[in-house]
Amino acid sequence: MKLRDLGEFPFLRRLRERLPADPRVLLGVGDDCAAVALPGTTVLTTDAMIEGVHFRREWTTLTMLGAKAFAINASDILAMGGEPTFALLSLGVPQDTEVEDLDAFFEGFLRAASDCGTALIGGNMSAAPCLMISVTLLGQLLHGVIARAGAKVGDDVYVTGTLGDAALGLRMLQEGRTDPSAEYVKERFLCPTVRFAVSRALAAWHLAHAMIDVSDGLLQDLGHLCEAGHVGAVIDAPALPLSPAYQTMLGKNHWDTALTGGEDYELLFTAAQAQREPIGQLSQTSHCPITRLGHIVSRPEGLTVRGSDGAPLTLARSGFDHFRQGRK
Ligand SMILES: [Mg+2]
Repeated sequence: MKLRDLGEFPFLRRLRERLPADPRVLLGVGDDCAAVALPGTTVLTTDAMIEGVHFRREWTTLTMLGAKAFAINASDILAMGGEPTFALLSLGVPQDTEVEDLDAFFEGFLRAASDCGTALIGGNMSAAPCLMISVTLLGQLLHGVIARAGAKVGDDVYVTGTLGDAALGLRMLQEGRTDPSAEYVKERFLCPTVRFAVSRALAAWHLAHAMIDVSDGLLQDLGHLCEAGHVGAVIDAPALPLSPAYQTMLGKNHWDTALTGGEDYELLFTAAQAQREPIGQLSQTSHCPITRLGHIVSRPEGLTVRGSDGAPLTLARSGFDHFRQGRK
């Protein structure tokens, strides 16, 4: 059945019945506003995904798309050391969309949200020429904020997971590649992992001095972190965490994609050298690779990437610029 035939209000009524009861929500989907009680400090973020700009329908299942729409917003909350709590979802939907597809979208979104203890509390749906998804996510700071600023000279620089897979995955989708390595990186692009456990522990144990999520590429986001903290950084390219699929496709000494590729949504943070042991333990208990990439230096030294021989690399470009180059 098409959305046109079911109608927006019956669809929303069905959706409301799927939402689990949540004691934190005084009024959820279905009134003019949602009403919630927010203890402590709240962090808020919003991000949109537009069909044809950020994704193509033929690349992804709607379940994966729903999960990604949640994940990219959750990543920003986690990068502050916050825990996601409530989500608002605004959708633009073509009238000929199958209800089944919309159900799949909500299934992916709601599953990802509930994995992070997040309740969908409201939103809006309107007819649109293509699928447009805008998420507003609220989060709670239980242990204080971890800002971009705060890195100290001498800090270690760490990143979770692996780098460059999403950018490589996007390229494989554009090229229509289907070998096993291509399938792996495509999934990394379509469905980024939410680093909930790592962020939670970093915040609770006060391990990180500064943090940002890698959405625009390591160098770009490390640049933001350095700028905010008035520091520089030295990164060792051979230390970059590369997935087996990445190494199969590009080789283990190809660093450009790992340094500049966007949309990995990994956490990039700095911590005192004295914290190496707890961070190593955290990597084990959370089953998430956490790799030490380099260290923080003083501002005038800028941002340096060293190659295998320790000499600085010359880099063609420093990351994704939203308006200078097309993403698709
Ligand atoms: Mg971010």
